[in-house]
Amino acid sequence: MYPGEKILSLEQMDEWVAAEKAAGRRIGFTCGSFDLLHAGHVQYLGAARDLCDRLMVAVNSDASVGRYKNPLRPIVGERERMYVVAGLAAVDVVTLMEDDRPLALLLRWKPDLYIKGGDYSEDGLRSAEAVRAYGGKVEVIRSRFETSSSKLVERIGALNGHAEPETAGAHSYNGLVLLDRDGTLIRNVPFLHDPAKMELLPGVIDGLLKLQAAGLRLAIVSNQQGIGLGYYTVQDFIAVNQRMLRELGASGVRISKIYFCPHSMAEQCSCRKPATGMIMRAMQDFGAAQEQTFLVGDSDDDMQAGKDAGCETVRVDEKGFGPAAERILALLQRASGNLKV
Ligand SMILES: [Mg+2]
Repeated sequence: MYPGEKILSLEQMDEWVAAEKAAGRRIGFTCGSFDLLHAGHVQYLGAARDLCDRLMVAVNSDASVGRYKNPLRPIVGERERMYVVAGLAAVDVVTLMEDDRPLALLLRWKPDLYIKGGDYSEDGLRSAEAVRAYGGKVEVIRSRFETSSSKLVERIGALNGHAEPETAGAHSYNGLVLLDRDGTLIRNVPFLHDPAKMELLPGVIDGLLKLQAAGLRLAIVSNQQGIGLGYYTVQDFIAVNQRMLRELGASGVRISKIYFCPHSMAEQCSCRKPATGMIMRAMQDFGAAQEQTFLVGDSDDDMQAGKDAGCETVRVDEKGFGPAAERILALLQRASGNLKV
């Protein structure tokens, strides 16, 4: 059986449930995001299947995961998460769950068993009571493994956040360049959210390569008011960045980190340029002093933020990124006796 054949719509699931109940089979129900499938999932789903005759799994939609876990999650999209879960021998059918909680689906199908994996404890009581009220049973299966999707993400983040040890003789860093994104590195498209419209500006690759070669680390500080206003999502912003990083990476440019402000102007946050929040945080993360930090941007807000944070500021004008990069190199050369980052 192909995994895809186990994925049912809610209406198909209605029929499936009716048929299984008519055949006198015990139905178990479980749900979750199954973002990065790991040993704990496989063990708990196997144990869940042992408790019933048929196991149905409701996989949280992308929107619901974003709501109840973290707006940056899930990592894997709902279609693929459902497909992977459906590929497990323990799982009989899979459907999509748009709600954050399973209550509506439990009441719709009234499965004999509502089974929960150990790391979902907070959504327990209300649904559990409802299940008992219609005569169903609740089972919690503790994971035999320490791992969880969130821990995997944390681990990957930790790997990313730790610089690889320098090889002997490698040069150390001379400073930090904080780059505005829109209108500085890529063409300014209002509320850009389509990766296909991402276009690197002329001179950007050459300029960044020169800065890198001079021992400067590169990071981005970007206002993304469109997220706060609801014009596009964090995922859209990330998708545009991925395309940009791919093109830069193909030429050997390495952007160490992307800082962004998702707030609208009305939210009066401390990160949106001309406020200095993102810049101060970046300098702290990289251990860069003010005099070793260069803020490159194309707007008054960029320049104001850089000045207020005590950095050197360089404006990209109609001549493009090339002259701005040269200006940073000149400033770097002038500043004698740079501290190493
Ligand atoms: Mg800009």
